[in-house]
Amino acid sequence: MLEDKNPQRTSLGELGEFGLIDHLTQNFELKQPSSLVGIGDDAAVMDFKDKKVIVSTDMLVEGVHFDLSYMPLKHLGYKSVMVNLSDICAMNALPTQVTVSIAVSNRFPLEALEEFYEGVALACKLYHVDLVGGDTTSSNKGMIISVTAIGAANADEIVYRKGSKPNDLLVVTGDLGGAYLGLQVLEREKEVFKVNPNSQPDLEAYSYLVERQLKPEARKDMVELLKKLEVKPTSMIDISDGLSSEILHLCKHGDVGCNLFEDKIPLDPSAIATCEEFKMDSTMVALGGGEDYELLFTIDQADFPKIKGNPNLTVIGHMTEKSEGAHLITRAETKIPITAQGWNSFNETK
Ligand SMILES: [Mg+2]
Repeated sequence: MLEDKNPQRTSLGELGEFGLIDHLTQNFELKQPSSLVGIGDDAAVMDFKDKKVIVSTDMLVEGVHFDLSYMPLKHLGYKSVMVNLSDICAMNALPTQVTVSIAVSNRFPLEALEEFYEGVALACKLYHVDLVGGDTTSSNKGMIISVTAIGAANADEIVYRKGSKPNDLLVVTGDLGGAYLGLQVLEREKEVFKVNPNSQPDLEAYSYLVERQLKPEARKDMVELLKKLEVKPTSMIDISDGLSSEILHLCKHGDVGCNLFEDKIPLDPSAIATCEEFKMDSTMVALGGGEDYELLFTIDQADFPKIKGNPNLTVIGHMTEKSEGAHLITRAETKIPITAQGWNSFNETK
C-alpha cells in the first residue's frame, strides 16, 4: 500500500551504520528532565531522583506480528512504541524514555526507515517520551523491531497484576474488539487486492476499527485520570492478548476468581455492525481478539463512586474467591468458564 508509485530509493549501504543512526535520529530532542544524555555516547544517562524505574521491552517480527502489505511503515513505527508505552501505563506509571532498535534486509531503502522513524517521532512527541538509544543492523530476511520503554513512578503508586481481592470491581477503559476487527477488514482487503490489483479498498465504514489496528494508543490518559480521581487500582494489566487471557492473569496473580458480565462488555457500534457482517460473535471477539491496548484493572468497591458515570471506564464484573473460578455470565444468565483464547504467537497459523 505504498502510495507513491515511484519513491526515491537510497541504498542503506550509502550511509554506513553510524551515518544511518545519526541521520534517523537527528531531529529527536530530549524533553524529559530525567533524560541527562541520550543518543550519541556509548550509553544513555538518566536520573529518576527518588522514583522507581519501570522497564518493559518487546520484539516485533515481520510476518509474525505485522504485515507490511497493509501496515504503513509510519504506523508501524508509532505502534511499536505504543505497545511498549502501554506496558508502562499498565504498571500505573508514566513512560519517559524509549530505545528503538531495528534490523532490516537490503530490500528496505533509507526512505522506508525514515518513514518508520517518523512514526516513532510522532509517538514520542504526543506522549512526551524521549528517544535515548537504539541500534540499526541488517537482517537476512524481513524486518525485526525491538523497543524498550522506560517509565517512572513513586513506589506507592505502582500497580501490579497481583493485588486484587474478592469483591473488587473489574473495570476496563475504552471499548474492546476493535483492533481485531480492523485486522479482519485489512486481511479481507488484502485478499480482494490479490484477486484484483486494481480494486480500491473502501474502508470508510471501518475507519475506527482500522485505526484501532494500525494506530493504537497507550492509555496514559487513563493513568492520569485515575490519579486525578484519586483511585489507585488494586491490580492492573493492559489488554494486548484479549480480555479473557488478561482476566485469567489477574485471577492467577491475585489468587482470586472472577465473574464477568457479558452485557457489560463495552463495544463500539461499528464493532457490533462489523461482527454482524462477518458473522462473528461480538463477545468472543472482545474476549479473544487482542491488541486493543486498553487497561483492565480492579478497584476496591469503596472507590466506585469516584469512577461512576465516567464514559471512559466500564465496570464489567467483580472478583470472587478463587474457589469460585473465573466465569462469563451470559445475557441468558448462564455461567461459562473463561478460558484463555488470547492471541498466541506460537499458535498463529498464518
Ligand atoms: Mg502487558
